[in-house]
Amino acid sequence: MSAGSHRLDRLRAALARRELDAALISAPANIRYLTGYVGSNALALVWDGGATLLTDGRYAVSARRQATGADVVIGKRDLLGDAATAVSELGAAPAVGVEAAHLTLERHGRLETALSGARLVATTGLVEDLRLVKDDDEIALIAEAADIADRALADVLALGLVGRREDEVALDLHAAMVRHGAEAPSFPIIVAAGPGGALPHAVPRPEPIPDDTLCVIDLGAVHRGYCSDMTRTVVLGRPDERLVEAYAVCAEAQRVGVEAVRAGVAAADVDRASRAVIDEAGLGEAFVHGLGHGVGLDIHERPGVRREATETLASGMVLTVEPGVYLEGLGGVRIEDLLVVTDEGARVLSRSPKDDIAKEHDTA
Ligand code: ZN
Ligand code: ZN
Repeated sequence: MSAGSHRLDRLRAALARRELDAALISAPANIRYLTGYVGSNALALVWDGGATLLTDGRYAVSARRQATGADVVIGKRDLLGDAATAVSELGAAPAVGVEAAHLTLERHGRLETALSGARLVATTGLVEDLRLVKDDDEIALIAEAADIADRALADVLALGLVGRREDEVALDLHAAMVRHGAEAPSFPIIVAAGPGGALPHAVPRPEPIPDDTLCVIDLGAVHRGYCSDMTRTVVLGRPDERLVEAYAVCAEAQRVGVEAVRAGVAAADVDRASRAVIDEAGLGEAFVHGLGHGVGLDIHERPGVRREATETLASGMVLTVEPGVYLEGLGGVRIEDLLVVTDEGARVLSRSPKDDIAKEHDTA
């Protein structure tokens, strides 16, 4: 049985539990997960007896090639009228789950008008729940995406950083990932040296990277739809003592965070364990974000690994552990690994060296 059919069956079981007759899926990553369709315009209607993938003529050829377990119907660009027709064929007054986080109010309103008799039910997490634990094929694709980022980083670091522009280094990383097999970067690459490193989501600037500071590099690849995510902070020359200290604290917090990962552990406890290291060093206020996030078809997905997280880690989840210490006006450090949760602990997918990077490229 194809992965697509198996996933559709798991969704059907979820529909039964929620007392829904069907689901109209609109989030692209969820449609890809369920049917294999890769494109920008589709809806998937899934019910007990079948599944229909609605897309428009631009995707007719590729959708028929990609879709498994769903019949492909080519509709008009808007797809809502075609969705209403497909729903009407389900029988009298079906309860149809829609994705509250993805269907806009405007499209919801028009869909409701087009449907006669059907009841739309707002749902959250219908497909995301299924995506939480990855199967072996998904983990293999994510591991390959992580390898691509590792190889690209090694290529680019070999050229040195000091004196090169941040935006050029980011472009080189992009090119290197594509050369190693990436479809694209999984998010805008971050290269942030000096005070720029104090911004967790810094945009690479057309500025030369100075010596005697830290340079934060955050990158990830997309491989057959699946993302990777990794951050390394490179120590250049002899940075300010406060940055050296921040690096050591962050590295220890990252190690402790990875160590805390295991199936059955609350995601919030992993955040707590890592954060405690930074708190104890008196740098708690400089760690301004959650410890990590799930990664899969989306670069940021469940489970969230934050203080407020409610999820418990399970074997097969893929997530990041990425503490950061950001010192405004001075610089920042973040170290991020991508890993798979197992019953024994974390299987780390990011292979790039950490402290070795610092030593190897020390230009002092
Ligand atoms: Zn990252
Ligand atoms: Zn991340």
